[in-house]
Amino acid sequence: MSARILDGRVIGKAIRNRTRLEVDDLVRITGVVPGLAVILIGDDPASRIYVANKIRACTDVGIRSSMIEYPKDVPADTLIDAIERLNDDPATHGILVQLPLPPHHDVRAVLHAISVEKDVDGFHLYNVGGLVVGDTIFSPCTPFGVMNILDHARIPIEGRNVTIVGASNIVGKPMALMMMRRDATVAVCHAKTRDLAQYTILADILVVAAGVPNLILPQMVRTGAVVIDVGINRLPDGRLVGDVDFEGVSRKASCITPVPGGVGPMTVTMLLVNTMSAARRFVERTRGPILTPVHPQDITQLA
Ligand code: NAP
Repeated sequence: MSARILDGRVIGKAIRNRTRLEVDDLVRITGVVPGLAVILIGDDPASRIYVANKIRACTDVGIRSSMIEYPKDVPADTLIDAIERLNDDPATHGILVQLPLPPHHDVRAVLHAISVEKDVDGFHLYNVGGLVVGDTIFSPCTPFGVMNILDHARIPIEGRNVTIVGASNIVGKPMALMMMRRDATVAVCHAKTRDLAQYTILADILVVAAGVPNLILPQMVRTGAVVIDVGINRLPDGRLVGDVDFEGVSRKASCITPVPGGVGPMTVTMLLVNTMSAARRFVERTRGPILTPVHPQDITQLA
């Protein structure tokens, strides 16, 4: 068996094309251009690349973006003041603080300072809690991207066994909640899970987000499973790989995401979707409902 490749670049492009149409409609009908502000703290080279990618992606779909940079030792007050100014700025509809923050910063305080209505990364306590009760405004971009890959590939979720390897606040836990809302039976594994394979082998859909190259080997995967590799690891020889033995597992799985080119492009795509949605919500809050043409609906809004 050779797995079907779930290509995040292709799926992401289709969603971005539709987002571009939605942005055009919003601008034409209301004059409002969706705006994203990105805050970058410190000089982490990987963060700088991620931010540049996000800004380029915004430009591609017509979202206006701005980057605000601070040195790594910026005082907490300065940061919170900047976020509050952006919260009050009617031209800014989404605010993103690039993570990870330099170690001495209080990540929670920073993320919770962002207005819930502008929290396009979906990390504010309200949006995180909203995932539990189905009231979230913005879903976190990476697990939201995974759901969109599955939906685009018409892979059913209801009633399936889903195993998630990795239990972080930004990927594993929200992923589990989203899967539960779609009536999957979910197991969540982490570094202290004993005998990981006894959980992974049960999975109809296996989502791996641990940050450990080659963690998932073919013998840990059920024949015909759908395997979503969220991991991004840079090997000493410079290669970028996921957490899954792609070659081996491809021979056993029915569908698999590659690294690079799987979940990664979807994360940025969902940021664009969330920012467009934030701008639309802003217009509707301040001016009332807007009537825009309907474009084919294929994005799963999990709220
Ligand atoms: P994280 O905060 O370091 O969390 C890693 C999770 O994996 C933790 O829950 C950890 O368990 C668990 N884990 C670590 N080693 C394990 C093992 N041997 N067996 C089972 N579980 C293990 O990382 P993250 O931010 O969630 O990111 C995870 C990976 O996804 C990274 O490679 C990251 O680069 C990638 N990522 C990709 C995207 C994308 O767009 N494609 C977005 C975000 C992250 P404990 O909780 O017990 O420590």
